[in-house]
Amino acid sequence: MNPTKTLVDVQDLTMRFGGLTALDRLDMTIREGEVLGLLGPNGSGKTTFFNVLTGLYKASEGAILYNGHDVIGKRPQEIYRSGVARTFQRSRLSLPLTVFDNIVIGDYQHMHHGLVFNLFRRKAFRAEYDAYVQKVRELLGIFSPPLVDRMFEPVETFTMIDRRRIEVCRALLSRPRLLLLDEPSAGMTHDETHALMGDILDVRSKLGNLTVVLIEHEMNVIERITDRCVVLNYGKKIAEGTYAHITSDPAVQTAYLGE
Ligand code: ADP
Repeated sequence: MNPTKTLVDVQDLTMRFGGLTALDRLDMTIREGEVLGLLGPNGSGKTTFFNVLTGLYKASEGAILYNGHDVIGKRPQEIYRSGVARTFQRSRLSLPLTVFDNIVIGDYQHMHHGLVFNLFRRKAFRAEYDAYVQKVRELLGIFSPPLVDRMFEPVETFTMIDRRRIEVCRALLSRPRLLLLDEPSAGMTHDETHALMGDILDVRSKLGNLTVVLIEHEMNVIERITDRCVVLNYGKKIAEGTYAHITSDPAVQTAYLGE
Protein backbone atom coordinates (compact mmCIF):
# COMPACT_ATOMS: atom_id res chain seq x y z
CA MET A 1 0.00 0.00 0.00
CA ASN A 2 1.26 3.40 -0.96
CA PRO A 3 -0.79 6.28 0.53
CA THR A 4 0.60 8.84 -1.88
CA LYS A 5 -0.33 6.78 -4.93
CA THR A 6 -3.43 7.78 -6.87
CA LEU A 7 -5.75 4.80 -7.20
CA VAL A 8 -8.58 6.64 -8.96
CA ASP A 9 -8.13 9.73 -11.09
CA VAL A 10 -11.39 11.38 -12.11
CA GLN A 11 -10.94 13.75 -15.04
CA ASP A 12 -13.50 16.23 -16.27
CA LEU A 13 -16.34 13.82 -15.55
CA THR A 14 -19.80 14.86 -16.71
CA MET A 15 -23.00 12.86 -16.38
CA ARG A 16 -26.20 14.21 -17.84
CA PHE A 17 -29.70 12.84 -17.53
CA GLY A 18 -31.54 14.64 -20.28
CA GLY A 19 -31.32 18.31 -19.37
CA LEU A 20 -30.04 17.64 -15.84
CA THR A 21 -26.30 17.67 -15.19
CA ALA A 22 -25.72 15.36 -12.22
CA LEU A 23 -21.90 15.49 -12.44
CA ASP A 24 -20.41 18.63 -13.88
CA ARG A 25 -16.79 18.46 -15.09
CA LEU A 26 -15.73 16.74 -11.89
CA ASP A 27 -12.02 16.36 -11.15
CA MET A 28 -10.94 14.45 -8.07
CA THR A 29 -8.58 11.75 -6.91
CA ILE A 30 -8.84 8.80 -4.57
CA ARG A 31 -5.54 7.82 -2.99
CA GLU A 32 -4.57 4.25 -2.35
CA GLY A 33 -5.29 3.14 1.22
CA GLU A 34 -7.25 6.20 2.33
CA VAL A 35 -10.78 6.53 3.69
CA LEU A 36 -12.30 9.30 1.61
CA GLY A 37 -15.56 10.93 2.66
CA LEU A 38 -17.80 11.99 -0.23
CA LEU A 39 -20.10 14.73 1.02
CA GLY A 40 -22.69 17.10 -0.31
CA PRO A 41 -26.38 17.93 -0.03
CA ASN A 42 -29.04 15.61 -1.42
CA GLY A 43 -28.96 15.55 -5.18
CA SER A 44 -25.35 16.77 -5.44
CA GLY A 45 -24.24 13.72 -7.46
CA LYS A 46 -22.64 11.40 -4.90
CA THR A 47 -24.53 8.22 -5.75
CA THR A 48 -24.31 9.06 -9.44
CA PHE A 49 -20.53 9.08 -9.06
CA PHE A 50 -20.65 5.56 -7.56
CA ASN A 51 -22.96 4.46 -10.36
CA VAL A 52 -20.57 5.73 -13.02
CA LEU A 53 -17.51 4.30 -11.29
CA THR A 54 -19.11 0.86 -11.03
CA GLY A 55 -20.34 0.86 -14.64
CA LEU A 56 -24.09 1.15 -13.99
CA TYR A 57 -24.17 4.49 -15.84
CA LYS A 58 -22.00 5.56 -18.73
CA ALA A 59 -20.62 9.07 -18.32
CA SER A 60 -21.45 11.66 -20.95
CA GLU A 61 -17.88 13.01 -20.96
CA GLY A 62 -14.59 12.60 -19.15
CA ALA A 63 -12.64 9.71 -17.71
CA ILE A 64 -12.22 7.72 -14.51
CA LEU A 65 -8.78 6.16 -14.45
CA TYR A 66 -8.79 3.28 -11.97
CA ASN A 67 -5.31 1.94 -11.49
CA GLY A 68 -4.39 3.73 -14.71
CA HIS A 69 -7.21 2.32 -16.89
CA ASP A 70 -10.37 4.17 -17.88
CA VAL A 71 -13.48 2.40 -16.57
CA ILE A 72 -15.92 4.38 -18.72
CA GLY A 73 -17.59 2.01 -21.16
CA LYS A 74 -16.60 -1.10 -19.21
CA ARG A 75 -19.30 -3.47 -18.02
CA PRO A 76 -20.08 -3.65 -14.26
CA GLN A 77 -18.80 -7.25 -14.07
CA GLU A 78 -15.45 -6.24 -15.53
CA ILE A 79 -15.08 -3.37 -13.08
CA TYR A 80 -16.09 -5.63 -10.18
CA ARG A 81 -13.52 -8.22 -11.20
CA SER A 82 -10.85 -5.54 -11.32
CA GLY A 83 -11.42 -4.91 -7.60
CA VAL A 84 -14.21 -2.33 -7.15
CA ALA A 85 -17.09 -3.32 -4.86
CA ARG A 86 -19.94 -1.34 -3.34
CA THR A 87 -22.90 -1.29 -1.02
CA PHE A 88 -26.19 0.42 -1.86
CA GLN A 89 -28.08 3.03 0.11
CA ARG A 90 -31.22 0.92 0.14
CA SER A 91 -30.73 -2.61 1.31
CA ARG A 92 -30.41 -5.21 -1.42
CA LEU A 93 -30.67 -8.16 0.91
CA SER A 94 -33.23 -10.83 0.27
CA LEU A 95 -34.74 -11.31 3.73
CA PRO A 96 -35.96 -14.93 3.44
CA LEU A 97 -32.57 -16.09 2.14
CA THR A 98 -29.72 -17.04 4.45
CA VAL A 99 -26.72 -14.88 5.29
CA PHE A 100 -24.58 -17.20 3.17
CA ASP A 101 -26.86 -16.98 0.13
CA ASN A 102 -27.04 -13.20 0.37
CA ILE A 103 -23.28 -12.81 0.62
CA VAL A 104 -22.51 -15.19 -2.22
CA ILE A 105 -25.17 -14.37 -4.76
CA GLY A 106 -23.76 -11.06 -5.94
CA ASP A 107 -20.26 -12.44 -6.39
CA TYR A 108 -21.57 -15.53 -8.16
CA GLN A 109 -23.54 -13.47 -10.65
CA HIS A 110 -20.57 -11.25 -11.34
CA MET A 111 -18.19 -14.13 -11.86
CA HIS A 112 -20.47 -16.24 -14.03
CA HIS A 113 -22.93 -15.31 -16.68
CA GLY A 114 -26.19 -16.24 -15.00
CA LEU A 115 -26.81 -18.18 -11.85
CA VAL A 116 -29.37 -20.64 -13.20
CA PHE A 117 -27.25 -22.01 -16.00
CA ASN A 118 -24.45 -22.82 -13.58
CA LEU A 119 -26.69 -24.29 -10.94
CA PHE A 120 -27.65 -26.98 -13.43
CA ARG A 121 -24.04 -28.07 -13.73
CA ARG A 122 -24.34 -29.53 -10.27
CA LYS A 123 -21.09 -31.45 -10.11
CA ALA A 124 -19.01 -28.41 -10.85
CA PHE A 125 -21.17 -26.34 -8.54
CA ARG A 126 -20.60 -28.59 -5.51
CA ALA A 127 -16.88 -27.79 -5.39
CA GLU A 128 -17.59 -24.13 -5.91
CA TYR A 129 -20.22 -24.20 -3.20
CA ASP A 130 -17.76 -25.68 -0.70
CA ALA A 131 -15.18 -23.07 -1.63
CA TYR A 132 -17.75 -20.32 -1.08
CA VAL A 133 -18.68 -21.73 2.36
CA GLN A 134 -15.02 -21.60 3.29
CA LYS A 135 -14.62 -18.04 1.97
CA VAL A 136 -17.73 -16.73 3.72
CA ARG A 137 -16.79 -18.40 6.99
CA GLU A 138 -13.34 -16.85 6.84
CA LEU A 139 -14.64 -13.39 5.99
CA LEU A 140 -17.33 -13.38 8.69
CA GLY A 141 -14.66 -14.60 11.11
CA ILE A 142 -12.65 -11.49 10.34
CA PHE A 143 -15.48 -8.98 10.03
CA SER A 144 -18.08 -10.16 12.48
CA PRO A 145 -17.26 -13.39 14.36
CA PRO A 146 -20.70 -13.77 16.05
CA LEU A 147 -22.25 -14.17 12.60
CA VAL A 148 -20.18 -17.25 11.70
CA ASP A 149 -22.39 -19.68 13.57
CA ARG A 150 -25.52 -18.10 12.12
CA MET A 151 -24.51 -18.03 8.46
CA PHE A 152 -27.26 -20.42 7.40
CA GLU A 153 -30.03 -18.50 9.14
CA PRO A 154 -32.38 -16.22 7.17
CA VAL A 155 -31.44 -12.55 7.11
CA GLU A 156 -34.90 -11.55 8.38
CA THR A 157 -33.94 -12.86 11.84
CA PHE A 158 -31.08 -10.34 12.17
CA THR A 159 -30.98 -6.82 13.62
CA MET A 160 -30.48 -3.75 11.43
CA ILE A 161 -26.79 -3.44 12.25
CA ASP A 162 -26.15 -7.11 11.50
CA ARG A 163 -27.94 -6.72 8.17
CA ARG A 164 -25.60 -3.83 7.36
CA ARG A 165 -22.65 -5.99 8.35
CA ILE A 166 -23.92 -8.70 6.01
CA GLU A 167 -24.10 -6.16 3.18
CA VAL A 168 -20.56 -5.01 3.82
CA CYS A 169 -19.41 -8.65 3.88
CA ARG A 170 -21.11 -9.20 0.55
CA ALA A 171 -19.09 -6.32 -0.89
CA LEU A 172 -15.89 -7.63 0.72
CA LEU A 173 -16.23 -11.20 -0.54
CA SER A 174 -14.26 -10.49 -3.70
CA ARG A 175 -11.52 -8.94 -1.52
CA PRO A 176 -11.80 -5.63 -3.39
CA ARG A 177 -9.12 -3.02 -3.62
CA LEU A 178 -11.69 -0.22 -3.57
CA LEU A 179 -14.83 -0.35 -1.40
CA LEU A 180 -17.63 2.15 -2.02
CA LEU A 181 -20.08 2.56 0.87
CA ASP A 182 -23.29 4.43 0.09
CA GLU A 183 -24.61 5.84 3.36
CA PRO A 184 -24.20 2.74 5.50
CA SER A 185 -25.66 4.60 8.49
CA ALA A 186 -29.09 5.08 6.88
CA GLY A 187 -31.78 3.77 9.21
CA MET A 188 -29.40 3.04 12.08
CA THR A 189 -29.04 4.66 15.49
CA HIS A 190 -26.03 6.76 16.41
CA ASP A 191 -24.50 3.94 18.47
CA GLU A 192 -25.08 1.34 15.75
CA THR A 193 -23.46 3.63 13.19
CA HIS A 194 -20.39 4.05 15.35
CA ALA A 195 -20.16 0.31 15.96
CA LEU A 196 -20.37 -0.38 12.22
CA MET A 197 -17.71 2.22 11.43
CA GLY A 198 -15.46 0.65 14.06
CA ASP A 199 -15.91 -2.71 12.31
CA ILE A 200 -15.07 -1.16 8.95
CA LEU A 201 -11.88 0.44 10.27
CA ASP A 202 -10.98 -2.82 11.94
CA VAL A 203 -11.49 -4.96 8.84
CA ARG A 204 -9.53 -2.45 6.82
CA SER A 205 -6.51 -2.87 9.04
CA LYS A 206 -6.89 -6.66 8.95
CA LEU A 207 -7.34 -6.96 5.18
CA GLY A 208 -4.48 -4.60 4.44
CA ASN A 209 -4.69 -2.94 1.07
CA LEU A 210 -8.23 -1.55 1.07
CA THR A 211 -9.26 1.93 -0.04
CA VAL A 212 -12.68 3.13 1.11
CA VAL A 213 -14.97 5.86 -0.22
CA LEU A 214 -17.82 6.67 2.12
CA ILE A 215 -20.97 8.65 1.37
CA GLU A 216 -22.20 9.80 4.74
CA HIS A 217 -24.32 12.56 6.21
CA GLU A 218 -23.39 12.19 9.87
CA MET A 219 -20.57 14.65 10.36
CA ASN A 220 -19.22 13.02 13.50
CA VAL A 221 -18.80 9.78 11.56
CA ILE A 222 -16.97 11.64 8.82
CA GLU A 223 -14.72 13.30 11.36
CA ARG A 224 -13.94 10.02 13.05
CA ILE A 225 -13.17 7.78 10.12
CA THR A 226 -12.07 9.76 7.09
CA ASP A 227 -8.55 10.78 6.13
CA ARG A 228 -9.81 13.25 3.56
CA CYS A 229 -13.08 14.56 2.16
CA VAL A 230 -14.43 15.79 -1.16
CA VAL A 231 -17.56 17.95 -1.09
CA LEU A 232 -19.91 18.12 -4.08
CA ASN A 233 -22.63 20.62 -4.83
CA TYR A 234 -24.71 20.47 -8.02
CA GLY A 235 -22.29 17.88 -9.39
CA LYS A 236 -19.22 20.09 -8.94
CA LYS A 237 -16.42 19.70 -6.42
CA ILE A 238 -16.56 22.69 -4.07
CA ALA A 239 -13.97 21.61 -1.49
CA GLU A 240 -11.38 18.94 -0.82
CA GLY A 241 -9.16 18.21 2.18
CA THR A 242 -9.23 17.07 5.79
CA TYR A 243 -12.44 17.23 7.81
CA ALA A 244 -11.13 20.29 9.67
CA HIS A 245 -10.29 21.98 6.39
CA ILE A 246 -13.58 21.39 4.60
CA THR A 247 -15.78 22.25 7.59
CA SER A 248 -14.09 25.63 7.92
CA ASP A 249 -14.60 26.38 4.23
CA PRO A 250 -17.33 29.06 3.79
CA ALA A 251 -18.48 27.50 0.49
CA VAL A 252 -19.12 24.20 2.28
CA GLN A 253 -20.88 25.90 5.17
CA THR A 254 -23.20 27.67 2.76
CA ALA A 255 -23.90 24.67 0.54
CA TYR A 256 -23.80 21.75 2.88
CA LEU A 257 -24.22 22.84 6.43
CA GLY A 258 -26.75 25.53 5.55
CA GLU A 259 -24.95 28.16 7.60
P1 ADP B 1 -26.88 12.36 -4.14
O1 ADP B 1 -26.39 10.93 -4.08
O2 ADP B 1 -25.80 13.35 -3.90
O3 ADP B 1 -28.07 12.60 -3.26
P2 ADP B 1 -27.66 11.63 -6.83
O4 ADP B 1 -26.38 11.25 -7.46
O5 ADP B 1 -28.57 10.55 -6.39
O6 ADP B 1 -27.37 12.65 -5.62
O7 ADP B 1 -28.47 12.55 -7.84
C1 ADP B 1 -27.89 13.67 -8.51
C2 ADP B 1 -28.92 14.25 -9.45
O8 ADP B 1 -29.08 13.34 -10.55
C3 ADP B 1 -30.30 14.41 -8.83
O9 ADP B 1 -30.88 15.58 -9.34
C4 ADP B 1 -31.04 13.17 -9.30
O10 ADP B 1 -32.42 13.40 -9.37
C5 ADP B 1 -30.42 12.94 -10.67
N1 ADP B 1 -30.43 11.53 -11.08
C6 ADP B 1 -29.74 10.53 -10.50
N2 ADP B 1 -29.95 9.37 -11.14
C7 ADP B 1 -30.80 9.64 -12.16
C8 ADP B 1 -31.41 8.86 -13.19
N3 ADP B 1 -31.17 7.56 -13.30
N4 ADP B 1 -32.23 9.51 -14.06
C9 ADP B 1 -32.46 10.84 -13.96
N5 ADP B 1 -31.93 11.64 -13.02
C10 ADP B 1 -31.11 11.05 -12.12
